[in-house]
Amino acid sequence: MTYKASDRLAGKVAVVTGASSGIGQGIAIAMGQAGAKVVINYHSDAAGARQTQQQIEKAGGEAIIRQADVAKPEEAQELIEAAKEQFGAVDILVNNAGVQQDQAFLEMTLEEWKKVIDTNLTGHFLCAQAAAREFAKRQVKQEEKTCAGNIIFISSVHDIIPWAGRANYTAAKGGLQMLMKTLAQELAKYKIRVNAISPGAIKTDINRKEWESEEGRKKMLAQIPYGRIGEPEDIAKVALWLATDEADYITGSTIYVDGGMTLFPS
Ligand code: NAD
Repeated sequence: MTYKASDRLAGKVAVVTGASSGIGQGIAIAMGQAGAKVVINYHSDAAGARQTQQQIEKAGGEAIIRQADVAKPEEAQELIEAAKEQFGAVDILVNNAGVQQDQAFLEMTLEEWKKVIDTNLTGHFLCAQAAAREFAKRQVKQEEKTCAGNIIFISSVHDIIPWAGRANYTAAKGGLQMLMKTLAQELAKYKIRVNAISPGAIKTDINRKEWESEEGRKKMLAQIPYGRIGEPEDIAKVALWLATDEADYITGSTIYVDGGMTLFPS
């Protein structure tokens, strides 16, 4: 992945969860190459996290790596602490970490339900709270065209499109929508911006089995009016822009980056 090195996020510090692969990796690299100092969080793929770091360093950027399970309160908190200790502040949180554990509803165990809810919803709550507590300490005047902090949730088109066999995933993503909107409303007085990006079908590890097979690719493309499967860069570019002051008047919004997938009935 290559992005044009720039200074669009110079002086900013970003924490990106689940940044050892896929969309999170793309976002961390894009932000790092735009001048942000980055905390790369990973769960189990240390080599992937190192790759992310190398890409940022190649562009002259700076990044550190922190292992953490975002669903554990103390580990989520440590990510924000790491940003402060290493870089002196935190300005941007990209809540990206996510898992899928597909199961027919009639068979779904409580464990399968909780695994996805814990990571995709509770983990996002924990990181958002830890970051927002830092952002809220800042004094930014209401009339200024900049924010005290920026929270971006990586949701999914399945925050509005039901998806049989994935009740845990759709419940978590649907929940993220209301979490995002409520935080945007509640935290606006601190000048904290909160938004979501909802990807459609993006080629990553999470759906590799589908897009790597001819039949799976056909099935995916049949749901995408724009005629191509997305790539992490498609999401990273939007996240980067959303994190800049160019998007200063945007809070409480969801941007569907999906090649028109949400235009179709499921
Ligand atoms: P991915 O599997 O490459 O990335 C998910 C990342 O989250 C991995 O790096 C994984 O290690 C990390 N992770 C999982 N559990 C974690 C935990 N407890 N703590 C910290 N990190 C953890 O897949 P991706 O497609 O890049 O997924 C990123 C996000 O995008 C997810 O939230 C996913 O739901 C969302 N999304 C993906 C697509 C798609 O088509 N790929 C579509 C819509 C939404």
